[in-house]
Amino acid sequence: MKRLVLKFGGTSVGSITKIKNVVNIVKKKHEEGNQIIVVVSAMSGATNDLMKKSHEVSENFNVKELDVLLSSGEQVSSALLAGAIIDAGMNARSWLGWQIPIITDNNHSSSQIKGIVTDEIEKFISKGGIAIVAGFQGISSEKRITTLGRGGSDLSAVAIAKFFNANSCEIYTDVEGVLSTDPSINKEAKKIDKISYEEMLEMSSLGAKVMQPSAVQASMVDNISIHVRSTFSEKPGTKIISESDIINKKTVTGIAYSKNNAKVSIFGVVDKPGVAADIFEPIGKNNINIDMVIQNTSLDGKKANITFTIKEEDLKKTLNIIEKNKEEIKYEKITHDAKLAKVSIIGAGMIASPGVTHKMFRSLANEKINILAISTSEIKISVLIKEDLTQKAVKTLHNTFKLN
Ligand code: ADP
Ligand code: ASP
Ligand code: MG
Repeated sequence: MKRLVLKFGGTSVGSITKIKNVVNIVKKKHEEGNQIIVVVSAMSGATNDLMKKSHEVSENFNVKELDVLLSSGEQVSSALLAGAIIDAGMNARSWLGWQIPIITDNNHSSSQIKGIVTDEIEKFISKGGIAIVAGFQGISSEKRITTLGRGGSDLSAVAIAKFFNANSCEIYTDVEGVLSTDPSINKEAKKIDKISYEEMLEMSSLGAKVMQPSAVQASMVDNISIHVRSTFSEKPGTKIISESDIINKKTVTGIAYSKNNAKVSIFGVVDKPGVAADIFEPIGKNNINIDMVIQNTSLDGKKANITFTIKEEDLKKTLNIIEKNKEEIKYEKITHDAKLAKVSIIGAGMIASPGVTHKMFRSLANEKINILAISTSEIKISVLIKEDLTQKAVKTLHNTFKLN
């Protein structure tokens, strides 16, 4: 007998017909003699609708109440699925985060899971019951409802697999698995059979929506392998596993992108220790994430220009902060640009293959795509480009690195 955690994303439970399809998958796995814990997301669109309502109330909607509001989407889907499974003649019950409880820190809207009390569900599944857990939510030490960040049901599934010692953690979604790039931007995207935690973490953090970055991080830390697969086909999907279990390391495994980036350039700051700190400290204190950073020095070595990127939604606030700190920073000129995209190539084999960088840049140059900023790590190269060139860049790189 095996213990399985099956997570169904929003599109997999997006309608009553789709929920009935999930019932069939669960039924089959149950009849095979497995113990089953199901984790569900809200029905597709539900979380966005709730978010929109909160914005209609206020642009600064209280974060603790926002978590109460957003978590309600998963209350609906978990109850509907439990009801549908009971209706199909099986024993099922839904659990909300606080009922289990799934204990998190107090960091509302992007909480981390600290622990899960397993007794009740353990008893229920050992007697053949099917436990349905509302994903994306937990409870803090202050007894307030928390949520785990957008896409957070993935994290719920990984944590449940860990605390219940599951034999497998299956993430059911609307695509075949993890693909070489987002199929909605390139129809040529191909399924990846196996990908390392490290590569998946880069893919997710750089924009591949299919797995939440925190969930991949958690699975990497505890070595919990994940099977990402389609709800709508029985074909095997993608195994996210340890790098040592992957024999053929491709130079480039996948391409990710993120839109809505902005760039700020500060010209003519004095080139001395502490200037970068003076610029970035007040920005960081306002919880604005800085992504790429480039600094270059004037020919006489006295002045420097600093360019950095942020999310477009933080642009106005960032410019205000710099303006407010003009006395300390003392710059000559500041410019900014929005509607930019970051396109990244990711691959563990990159470490051992020189020449990937120029191949990427040449390929973009051939398509007349101008690179505005570059950042690299051991297993990824990212470039900043104009947002309307995203699809062209992804397709070109997909061809260049033979991912078709
Ligand atoms: P779910 O509702 O199941 O959680 P998500 O919408 O969060 O599903 O993630 C699945 C979507 O992620 C796909 O429909 C696809 O458009 C997008 N996506 C982006 N990059 C990739 C990728 N490299 N592989 C697969 N899907 C990707
Ligand atoms: N419903 C939440 C969201 O849309 C969590 C999830 O789908 O995983 O972000
Ligand atoms: Mg998701």
